[in-house]
Amino acid sequence: MKEKLKKILPPVVFLLLSAAVFAVVIWDRTPASPISLSGFKLNTVVTITIYDSKDESILKGCMELCDEYEALFSRTIPDSEISRLNAGELAESNGISPLSEPTQALLAEAFRYSELSDGAFDPTIGAVSSLWDFTGENRHAPSQEAVEAALPYVGWEQVKLTEEGILLPKGVQIDPGAIAKGFIADRIREYLLEQGVKSATINLGGNVLCVGSKPDGSPFRIGVQTPFADRSETSAILEIDNRSVVSSGIYERYFEENGIFYHHILDPKTGFPCENELCSVTIISDTSVEGDALSTACFVLGLEKGMELINSLPGIDAIFIDRDNNLHYSDGFSTAILPSDE
Ligand code: AMP
Ligand code: MG
Repeated sequence: MKEKLKKILPPVVFLLLSAAVFAVVIWDRTPASPISLSGFKLNTVVTITIYDSKDESILKGCMELCDEYEALFSRTIPDSEISRLNAGELAESNGISPLSEPTQALLAEAFRYSELSDGAFDPTIGAVSSLWDFTGENRHAPSQEAVEAALPYVGWEQVKLTEEGILLPKGVQIDPGAIAKGFIADRIREYLLEQGVKSATINLGGNVLCVGSKPDGSPFRIGVQTPFADRSETSAILEIDNRSVVSSGIYERYFEENGIFYHHILDPKTGFPCENELCSVTIISDTSVEGDALSTACFVLGLEKGMELINSLPGIDAIFIDRDNNLHYSDGFSTAILPSDE
């Protein structure tokens, strides 16, 4: 081919063409080796990978953002904004607790999904969820009495979010754990775009948000984990371009006590892990905040009602995996899928 071109083209044109091809190869090769940074943040492993820049300070900037949001939203940091709100320390004389812009925006999103899911998603689950410990050494179920005593303090309709802040009745506790990572991922994407990054992945403990596509224009490949299998085992591999993939499942945080299996997604009506036919719900959406909220909400709603909700929302794809490891796809599922490695 090269020799053929040499014969047909005048020498100067041939040289220029060769240089252009060389430049494309170089351009293609350099960004193909990405830069990446991982850290333990937000109670999970956070990994940021950038494909089209070599500027390590942008990676550090992403980690700093995680720290900043964690300092606002954490329930384990005693002086975080959410901890102080729950302790009643932010309330002014009119009872309203003014909030920082990120916390106000996070809670506005959260209550939107409570309404949309008819209360299946409930960020006021805090009084009950704080009775459970799915991560520590001493995991065990709280007593029925303790859960029943906490239940009156769960209920998103008891809370009023206004432009001035939040009116949180005494004893009601906000737990933003089911939506915070999605919200933070979206904010990190905004930051990356501001820095001129157009090709990156943001992985917050398995919640993945893709910025653009790979430098060569091909989509990122994101695996949907097979429940209870090794983390690397996938039930489906998705081709993702500029979208978010978030899963909620009973295999993420759980323990067994006296032969009973307990997982961390709670039914706000009972205060106990919701019992249904599902193992996991994966949502593919434009923003990670909707993916995070909807994956939790749909898990609580169960296969039929959860699927109904997804099918009523435009632009959202979902995969529900049931307890027999069958995959159920939402109507009009449009995300490209590669054969899994099973
Ligand atoms: P995710 O892993 O995103 O599904 O979120 C699960 C976490 O959200 C739990 O560890 C609890 O802190 C909290 N949570 C549990 N059940 C609910 C619920 N029904 N609505 C909102 N948050 C919940
Ligand atoms: Mg969630």
